[in-house]
Amino acid sequence: MADSIRIKNLIDGEWLVEDNETTVALYNPSTGAQIGEAPMSSAATVEAAVKSSHAAYQQWREVPIGKRVGYIFAIHTAMQDNLEKLAEAIAIDQAKHISEARGEVQRVIEIMEMACNAPSLLQGETLAHIAPGINGRVTRQPLGVFCGIAPFNFPALVFGWFIPFAIAAGNTFVFKPSMESPLFMQEMGQLMLDAGLPKGVVNIVHGEREVAETWYQMPEVAGVCLVGSSPTAKSIAEACGRVAKKTMLLGGAKNYLVALEDAQIDLLVSNIIQSGYGSAGQRCLASSIIAVVPELYDQVIELVADTARKIRVGDAMDPDAFMGPVISARAKQRIEACIESGIKSGARLVLDGRNPDVPAANKEGYFIGPTIFADVTPCMEIVQSEIFGPVLSIMKINGLDDALDLIQKQPTGNGACLFTQNMYYAEKFMADADVGMVGINVGVCAPHPYMPFGGIKESLVGNNKVQGKEGFDFFTQNKVSTIRVAAPAGQLAADASADKTAEITTAKDGVRSCIAS
Ligand code: NAD
Repeated sequence: MADSIRIKNLIDGEWLVEDNETTVALYNPSTGAQIGEAPMSSAATVEAAVKSSHAAYQQWREVPIGKRVGYIFAIHTAMQDNLEKLAEAIAIDQAKHISEARGEVQRVIEIMEMACNAPSLLQGETLAHIAPGINGRVTRQPLGVFCGIAPFNFPALVFGWFIPFAIAAGNTFVFKPSMESPLFMQEMGQLMLDAGLPKGVVNIVHGEREVAETWYQMPEVAGVCLVGSSPTAKSIAEACGRVAKKTMLLGGAKNYLVALEDAQIDLLVSNIIQSGYGSAGQRCLASSIIAVVPELYDQVIELVADTARKIRVGDAMDPDAFMGPVISARAKQRIEACIESGIKSGARLVLDGRNPDVPAANKEGYFIGPTIFADVTPCMEIVQSEIFGPVLSIMKINGLDDALDLIQKQPTGNGACLFTQNMYYAEKFMADADVGMVGINVGVCAPHPYMPFGGIKESLVGNNKVQGKEGFDFFTQNKVSTIRVAAPAGQLAADASADKTAEITTAKDGVRSCIAS
């Protein structure tokens, strides 16, 4: 392979290849061709990455916050200057269509702008005179080395959700991309080095679950964050719970899009298409269950199917294609098995995306075309499990309460969308839908970078969300100080007497405040 890509670990400012390194093949899902290899890092390499980040932390936390943000801004500018190269990296190994890959990079650029607000958002609180001569202060402090794990489907976005916030706050970071889409971080790592980010502030290691298993054993690791499936999130929560490490774990999803009788039909149909088939359905906010009232049911099926039939499936780099392949041969087989299961369970296959027409150069790619099931019922496997592919399940519902009840029964609670022009229904849905993110007349309810992103139930194991003001919460602790301002010699006796008075005046029902004792 003349142009073979060799993914490397970034450790302490150097791109490293281990002696006798174990590697796995890297594929282009659009063609099925092997395009390179990525390392399965040894425990020693993972330890070296954490130790490097731990050493860097001792200096980085002392760098003035304005200067830390300056580095983030420099990386942000480098991303703007290299947007096309970064987007192509995503389109090659993750096979997100190039137009969507550009959108992903652009979104990360905006997130970095948000993270540059750190000097305002990381300010603490002071309450003067909580008792005579005593002030209280809350300071937002970094915690040390954070480790983060990305899923295959958003290699750039997850970098943006974790790293700018963590390092702006004064932490350092070890990042593990998905082995299915490591190329973006190879480009990004070089941009960070070129922007002058001090060595060790961000290290990159490649591998699978064994990487995290090394982290759990290292006292230098303050916390682990993940974006991935719910089983992975739960297993990390268990492991980190045993060793008392912080976690922020965004898990899987299965999202409803609900259409009421007064929905604007053109808007509804175009949003169902974008939501269900954008990124070939491999998005945690893809609406894959379309719940429609009887008044619109047949019309929605017909219009969505007519539009979906016209979707052009092709190479992620083909500007005329709308939808690229799914991530791997394994994912393709799994999604085809889901389609089989839908047929067996009695759902009506309106559009079968198996074996779509693709150009000759893409015959070995991992393609599944737009697929539509109708007459789906809540207990079917295709409704209950996350398919994570271009498969829509359309079901009939009796009305809003019916939809809210179905959403409430889901084990995950990432997002849900409602199409209506009725403000009462919209408000009720926003209040009662049992999810973390809601869309009203939008098909993908992804919050803007200034707003927090995250679900509930199995879609977010733990409490902290990413991006927005809350994006800093996981990466900081609120340290509380109670401060007695030192008195000059000779004043001490007077202060002590004042404190005594404070104790007496705050005593109530025999309970004495001990704050000034
Ligand atoms: P995955 O859970 O299989 O893998 C995610 C990452 O975790 C990979 O880097 C993988 O190497 C690593 N990993 C796997 N098992 C692990 C373990 N036991 N311990 C430590 N690390 C482990 O998920 P995926 O297939 O890469 O991504 C798709 C999933 O991610 C979907 O479920 C999707 O809904 C979810 N996702 C969620 C969000 C969100 O915001 N909630 C966003 C994007 C993707």
